[in-house]
Amino acid sequence: MITTINPYNGSELKTYQEDTESQIEDKLKMADAAFKEWRKTDMDFRAKLIKRVGELLRQNAQNYARQMAMEMGKPISQGKAEAEKCAWLCDYYADHAPGFLKPEKFETDYHKSYVTYEPIGVVLAVMPWNYPFWQVMRFIVPALMAGNVGVLKHSSSVMGCALMLEELFREAGFPDGCLKNLTVSSDPIESVIKNPIVKAVTLTGSKPAGSAVASTAGSEIKKTVLELGGSNALVVFEDVDIDNAVETCVDARYQNTGQSCIAGKRLLLHKEIATVFLQKLTNKVKELKSGDPLKEDTYIGVMARPDLAEELEETMHKSINMGAHLHLGGKRDGAYFEPTILTHVTRDMPAFKEETFGPLLAVTTFESDQEAIDIVNESEFGLGVSLFSEDTDRMERLSVHFDDGAVFINEKVSSHPNLPFGGTGISGYGRELSRFGIREFVNIKTVVVN
Ligand code: NAP
Repeated sequence: MITTINPYNGSELKTYQEDTESQIEDKLKMADAAFKEWRKTDMDFRAKLIKRVGELLRQNAQNYARQMAMEMGKPISQGKAEAEKCAWLCDYYADHAPGFLKPEKFETDYHKSYVTYEPIGVVLAVMPWNYPFWQVMRFIVPALMAGNVGVLKHSSSVMGCALMLEELFREAGFPDGCLKNLTVSSDPIESVIKNPIVKAVTLTGSKPAGSAVASTAGSEIKKTVLELGGSNALVVFEDVDIDNAVETCVDARYQNTGQSCIAGKRLLLHKEIATVFLQKLTNKVKELKSGDPLKEDTYIGVMARPDLAEELEETMHKSINMGAHLHLGGKRDGAYFEPTILTHVTRDMPAFKEETFGPLLAVTTFESDQEAIDIVNESEFGLGVSLFSEDTDRMERLSVHFDDGAVFINEKVSSHPNLPFGGTGISGYGRELSRFGIREFVNIKTVVVN
């Protein structure tokens, strides 16, 4: 049994009977049968249906946002924005996938040689709760455009969202089986990965989950893409436009109640501007409105589960015991965690070394470019880094020294349909979105004619 719980008030939402082994097998067979037909469809047909998914997302954004708010505490305005971003993704791939997957000619000694991008079949997606629509959509939309189909194992806490997604594709006209939801915990996933019907796996989630899934897939020689945690740094240089950077940094850390892989979790301030920057930032954070996720003006909702808030509290206390200062916030009530700022954070503290998955910002200072680079690169994570300075040429020159998957200058790291997204180190491997993402799960087939 899987029971979903509203983290705002602790009430039970719904209990789901888990799929049995034979139900899982039936769903996989259904997906496989759907693939055999779906792969024969042409790009125009696929694009038409994907556009329809986008229209439905826009029409029903309020409903979807409500479900996200109930199941994982996302403020409703942010849930609507998530549904609308998914619609943008649909339009993007409907328009661009045909070009991304066009056969490519190669100059060789042969009479003719080229590459085609062909579907591989049923891809399993193991997904987290934090962006319950976006994470799934950024996998399934390019997968379907490429001629694949998807089987979804969503996070246990957002089973309602998972079913809504399955229904969304059905309503848009996709044959049953193109996106098949498994109502399961993580227990049967090992055997699902081993099932010959499943050809590859994509996982967005934590390192332990990524490691478990990739080990099984590796033993079966099945490809994986892993989008794991992050501990992005926001690096503020001495020549920054303070007011703009403060605004961006607050959003980078506290949107989605701090539960984003690409949130700016570590704030590195140049010593020259540290005091004034921190003062302005603190004032902004104090203005953030906490409250009921279902209210339109709520910016900070609750964390997805009380145990996650407790974990964050423990990280905070451990860091304080090691010498960090509690500058703002720090109180927890159930799944609610006050927007918090820790200063005097050093590299050995858990608030710096580990991923803080909630509204807590760890602040430290630096004196030289090299010191900033060293601090950023010391993290085992490598999703992205934001650099703030009026001298963008200098920042572009510095960007080569950071080991992360993305460098954003005067901007928070975010995911865009038209930009590759993914990390280095323990943040995972492979890329989603753009032309890179759609080519992760295709057979790059070489054809030679002589
Ligand atoms: P999680 O606990 O790793 O769960 C993610 C998914 O993996 C869930 O569906 C979960 O199922 C499943 N799972 C967990 N252990 C598994 C195992 N041993 N075998 C197979 N499946 C397993 O992560 P979360 O708490 O949902 O999400 C937060 C994490 O995701 C953070 O670390 C965050 O940074 C990361 N994340 C990364 C990105 C990115 O793009 N890089 C984006 C968003 C989030 P159950 O729910 O049933 O346990």
